[in-house]
Amino acid sequence: MERKTKTNDWLKKFNLSHPLVIAGPCSAETEEQVLKIANQLKKTDVTVYRAGIWKPRTRPGNFEGVGSIGLKWLQRVKKETELLTATEVANKDHVKLALDHDIDVLWIGARSTVSPFIVQEIADSLNGTDKIVLVKNPVNPDLSLWLGAIERLQSANITRLGLIHRGFSSQGKSKYRNNPEWQIAIETKNKFPDIPIICDPSHISGRRDLIFDLSQMALDLNFDGLMIETHIDPDNAWSDAAQQVTPNRLIQIMKDLKMRNTTIEQKDYVNELDNLRTQIDIADQNLLQILGERMRISDSIGKLKKKNNVAVLQNKRWNEILGKMVLDGENHGLSEEFVLKLFKAIHQESINHQEKEIVK
Ligand code: PEP
Ligand code: MN
Repeated sequence: MERKTKTNDWLKKFNLSHPLVIAGPCSAETEEQVLKIANQLKKTDVTVYRAGIWKPRTRPGNFEGVGSIGLKWLQRVKKETELLTATEVANKDHVKLALDHDIDVLWIGARSTVSPFIVQEIADSLNGTDKIVLVKNPVNPDLSLWLGAIERLQSANITRLGLIHRGFSSQGKSKYRNNPEWQIAIETKNKFPDIPIICDPSHISGRRDLIFDLSQMALDLNFDGLMIETHIDPDNAWSDAAQQVTPNRLIQIMKDLKMRNTTIEQKDYVNELDNLRTQIDIADQNLLQILGERMRISDSIGKLKKKNNVAVLQNKRWNEILGKMVLDGENHGLSEEFVLKLFKAIHQESINHQEKEIVK
């Protein structure tokens, strides 16, 4: 990975290179484990060492973290490796202990970002801090909760803020533990263009074999950094075993990742891109036109159903369409996930059109 010195606000102030790489175990387990991993990560592209001290577990009975003793281990990491340190905080007591132990980067976890009360408590206890505070997206795909958390921290005069995109839970079938929903991350970034955004491919994927591709995707989308869970013995980790990589694997990932130029001025490139973009614009116009035509047919079906007093939703027909479209989509190089999403949206709009006709 070729590295660039850029970038905005605190990344620059801390003289951190781009992209920022945060790595370390999901959970601090023992002093030996924490230091062993850290020693393998020093003098690499990793700048910040992460370790969860308090672990928010969705279900009780799992390992809930070693607690504040782990902060002392992180202090040793900082002293012995010169890595900055990071941990998750989920209430004002965590904040106080983390500040007392001079942790450099505090992050708010996905299960905390969903709760404005918790975010406010953390914001109040950090008021005016010059520590770096990173906010993970909420577990559910609710942009406002993510934006709201940033706004609460900004109102508490916290200026070194960052976003962490860790994907969103969903009930549907997916190869990811948490669906990336990249467009939500992009929208959030657009709302706060000066706040760096970091991708956490570990929690998006839930499995280590997908981490490289997700990391490359994040860099291709101009993310400012990566947070990758790294463990000396991933399979035997006390939490999130399936998604952690070894320090060696992480070093290889960082080596293989390609940094892209944000843009270039070269004439041939600009001409060809203009040409392709024109084709995209035409294709988009065609899509809208054909969707409009489809909805006008739905209007006619609505009128017909009204005349014959038939219900709008015909499940059997709908399932047939969906199955056929997934198969046809494959022939056009479209993923099942995309075809299902697209046709569910089209079907909903179609129902709305028919319903309008029926109640007329
Ligand atoms: C973590 O980073 O280990 C963690 C618990 O993450 P999240 O809040 O994204 O689930
Ligand atoms: Mn984890």
